[in-house]
Amino acid sequence: MQRLGDRVRLEFEQTFMFYLPRICEHCLNPSCVASCPSGAMYKRSEDGIVLVDQDRCRGWRMCVTGCPYKKVYFNHKTGKAEKCTMCYPRIEVGMPTVCSETCVGRLRYLGVVLYDAERVGEAAAVADERDLYGAQLGVFLDPEDPEVRAAALRDGVPDRWVESARRSPVHALAVRHRVALPLHPEYRTMPMVWYIPPLSPVVDALASTGHDGEDAGNLFGAIDTLRIPVEYLAELFTAGDPAPVEASLRTLAAMRSHMRRINLGQEPDPSIAESAGTDPERIEELYRLLALAKYEDRYVIPTAYGVDDADRGVIDEIGCSLDYEGGPGMGGMGASHGRALGPPLGEASGRPDPAGVETFHALRMRQTSDAPADRDDLRGRVNLLNWDGNGRPEGLFPGEHGPGEHGPGERRADREEDR
Ligand code: SF4
Ligand code: SF4
Repeated sequence: MQRLGDRVRLEFEQTFMFYLPRICEHCLNPSCVASCPSGAMYKRSEDGIVLVDQDRCRGWRMCVTGCPYKKVYFNHKTGKAEKCTMCYPRIEVGMPTVCSETCVGRLRYLGVVLYDAERVGEAAAVADERDLYGAQLGVFLDPEDPEVRAAALRDGVPDRWVESARRSPVHALAVRHRVALPLHPEYRTMPMVWYIPPLSPVVDALASTGHDGEDAGNLFGAIDTLRIPVEYLAELFTAGDPAPVEASLRTLAAMRSHMRRINLGQEPDPSIAESAGTDPERIEELYRLLALAKYEDRYVIPTAYGVDDADRGVIDEIGCSLDYEGGPGMGGMGASHGRALGPPLGEASGRPDPAGVETFHALRMRQTSDAPADRDDLRGRVNLLNWDGNGRPEGLFPGEHGPGEHGPGERRADREEDR
C-alpha cells in the first residue's frame, strides 16, 4: 500500500504544481484593502468585487506584500497597483469573466453567494485556524430561507440577485454539496474563489495498480487509507483539517460509482450515496452540475442594472479600470455616444460615463455575436478585455481599418461596395 501511497502523492504534487489556477480571491476580509494607506483598494458593496482605484493609488505597494495570495502586481510604467478586476464590466452586463468563459476544461463556475457582512470579522478571528472553513460557511446565508430573502429585499438587494443566489452553482458546490473548499483559509481573508479537490489521481493510481477505480469500496478505502494526499490537500484547503477534504472526496467518489451503475443499466445502490453522507437525488444533482451543466447553469450572473434602468436609459457603461495607456489593456478609453471619454488618469478618469440603452445593447451584441458591433462610434475600438474571440473586429490589428485610416462614412461605403 505504501507504494500506492507514494504514487498517489506524486500524482497530487504534479497536479498542484501545474494545474491549480489562481486568481484574486475577492476576499470577504481583504488584507490588500486593509494594508493600503491611500484607501485606493476597495471592495464594492454591490457585488463584492475588490478593485484598485487608479486615481487614488499612490504606489505605496503595501497591498503587494499585504495580499497573502500574491495577487496584486505593481505596474512600474504607471506607478500604480493592479490586480484581477473580476472582469467587472462583463459581470455588470451578466457575462462571465474571460478566464471562466475561455476555460477549455469548463471547470469554472460563477454565481451569487449571500452573506452576513456583519459576521465576517468575527468569523475571520476564530481562535483555531481549523475552524475557519466552518466559520466562513456560517457567514453564508441560505437563499431558500424566507427570512433571509425578506431581509435581503429589505436591505435593498434586488430581487433578481436573490433569485440568482437560489440558482447559484457556487452556493450549491460550496454549501449544499460541500465539495468546494476555500484556498488557504488560514490567511483569514475569507477567500471567495473555492476549489473542488481532485479525485482523479486516486482513481488513476487505483486503476494503474489493477484495482477498479470506479468501485465505491475501493475509492472509499483508498481515501481512508492514503493519508498523504488527504493531508496534503487539507494543508491547501482547510488549514490542515482532513475531515472536510475527506468528505468532499467521498462525495465525488460516491458520485462516480453511483453514476457508473446507472450508465451500465444496473440498479442504483442508495448505500453508496449514504456512505458519503448524502442521497442519490443529491448525487445526481451534483453530477448534472459538474458534468452536464450548460453555460447558463455554470454562470448565473445577475446584471448590475435592472431592465427598468435600461429602459430609462440611466445605465452606465463603465470602462475597465486598467484600460489606459500603459495599463495591461494598453488601450485608450474609447468612445461612447460618438465622443471621446475623459483622460485615462487624473480627476476625470474612472468616472461612469452616462450611456444610453443602445450602448448597453451594443455591448451585449459585441460579446455575443460572431460579427463586430455595427455601430459607427464603436468602430476602430476593440476592448480586448471584453472581446469574446469571435469574429475579427475592425481595428483589431494596427493598420487594418484602424482609427484615422478611414472615416466611418468611408468604411460604410466600402461595405456597400463589398455587397
Ligand atoms: S486575494 Fe489578495 S488581492 Fe485579492 S482580495 Fe484577497 S487580499 Fe486582496
Ligand atoms: S480574466 Fe478577469 S476574472 Fe479572470 S483573472 Fe483576468 S481579470 Fe480576473
